[in-house]
Amino acid sequence: MQPPSSLWWSSLDPAPRARNSLHRDLDVDVAVVGGGFSGLWTARELLRRDASLRIAILEMAVCGYGASGRNGGWASSLFPLDDESFAQRHGRDALLQLRSTLRRSVADLGETMRDDNIDGDFVQGGWLSFARNLAQEQRLVKRIERARLLGESEDDLRWLDESELRHVGYVVGARGATYSPHCARLHPAKLVRSLSDVVERLGASIYEDTQVTKIVPGSATRRPRLLSVGGTVRADYVIRATEGFTPSLPGERRSVAPIYSMMIATEPQSKRFWSEAGFSRYETFGDARHNIIYGQRTADDRIAFGGRGAPYHFGSSIEPRFDEHHPTFRALETTLRELFPTLEGAITHRWGGPLAMPRDHEPSVVIDHRGGLVKVGGYTGDGVVLSRVCARAIADALAAPNDDSEFTSLAFVHHESPKWEYEPLRWLGAKSAQSLANRIDRADARNASTPRAEKWLGRLLS
Ligand SMILES: Cc1cc2nc3c(=O)[nH]c(=O)nc-3n(C[C@H](O)[C@H](O)[C@H](O)COP(=O)(O)OP(=O)(O)OC[C@H]3O[C@@H](n4cnc5c(N)ncnc54)[C@H](O)[C@@H]3O)c2cc1C
Repeated sequence: MQPPSSLWWSSLDPAPRARNSLHRDLDVDVAVVGGGFSGLWTARELLRRDASLRIAILEMAVCGYGASGRNGGWASSLFPLDDESFAQRHGRDALLQLRSTLRRSVADLGETMRDDNIDGDFVQGGWLSFARNLAQEQRLVKRIERARLLGESEDDLRWLDESELRHVGYVVGARGATYSPHCARLHPAKLVRSLSDVVERLGASIYEDTQVTKIVPGSATRRPRLLSVGGTVRADYVIRATEGFTPSLPGERRSVAPIYSMMIATEPQSKRFWSEAGFSRYETFGDARHNIIYGQRTADDRIAFGGRGAPYHFGSSIEPRFDEHHPTFRALETTLRELFPTLEGAITHRWGGPLAMPRDHEPSVVIDHRGGLVKVGGYTGDGVVLSRVCARAIADALAAPNDDSEFTSLAFVHHESPKWEYEPLRWLGAKSAQSLANRIDRADARNASTPRAEKWLGRLLS
């Protein structure tokens, strides 16, 4: 099974080689389900702490098949749950600790890539969130006010007015933007494929085209095991790192909601285009609408641009055909041409994929030492950096179960998200949230007010 033909996958040179599948039973120390960032970083971190560990990674397609090989390439300090809700749940100190770890982790990712000789086009140019109407401006001003209350300075988040933007990065209609330095752009498929090679060199065995059909937790007398199409794997610990695909595993239908995000990419843009648009430091960009959009200037001067808007599929279904949603591709192209009316050439690539949204919007690392089972993920659209943070928490927790580390003491680690509602409530909720978000964004663009829609959306998302 190959991933959808994204810009990222088609620009891998050389094309990735396929690895062997599993065709026998195995006995290992750690078995990982899923060859994306979560599974691979966890294997790397474990092997860096103990090179003698026997680790097997089972991947149903190829490493990078999932969101890790298809994403927008923002390596950011963003966290899916908003600051206020996080502080209400865990306290202000916990929020400050999270913010500081995530920020450091952006630059740290770049350093690790250099140390591991991974060429993934990593450039930390920060991110711009544009305000293209009054409501978006008010939202961003509030974001800055909240950041100041948390002690964040201009160095962490600042307002750039329209004239300043002309020297940084400009999209048509921008009244201003927030700028944060805590984001890098990268080529996700280069990163995930190189990382899989690094992990193999460190000693892990990777089995591709090997679907796990069941995860059986251990007990006081039995080790946990994985049943796969190619054999049974027994281990001291099993790491479930299947993110948006988790609902396909038995009993996991309500664990996370698979939400589809779609992307498009342009032809390489000319020097003239970029001299007008800016983004010379490869700042990533989006705006303050509800229906999230995200973009980056790639190493070969294209724009890779994505956004939400594709439907949630009843029963948390995940199918390869859902990786394309043409109405969303068309809407993305329209938005991109609105932002950059001088955009050159055609759209060359269109693709998408599922990400995992937990019911309480909070990612987690759940470690059951007795059952030897670790569940990680739920990053929504922010897993590029978070997956590595979680991997470090897992590796620290398995290496020294009784000690706290910077990563194991993060408040979201060890918390368990509640399950989603039964259908049809999940489907109705997702559909309503999406149509409310669209309605508010459309009203914002007309400078119309929609307090009721905002209130209902807030309720649905809480
Ligand atoms: C279009 C898109 C854009 C995004 N943009 C960004 C962004 O710009 N920045 C950001 O931070 N985040 C972004 N995200 C989210 C980010 O990509 C993910 O959070 C992150 O890659 C998750 O990594 P993972 O390893 O946990 O999951 P995945 O990369 O999805 O890996 C899970 C792996 O498990 C395998 N698997 C699943 N079930 C089984 C099974 N039963 N047996 C064996 N293997 C199995 C899958 O094949 C897959 O390879 C985006 C996501 C999408 C879809």
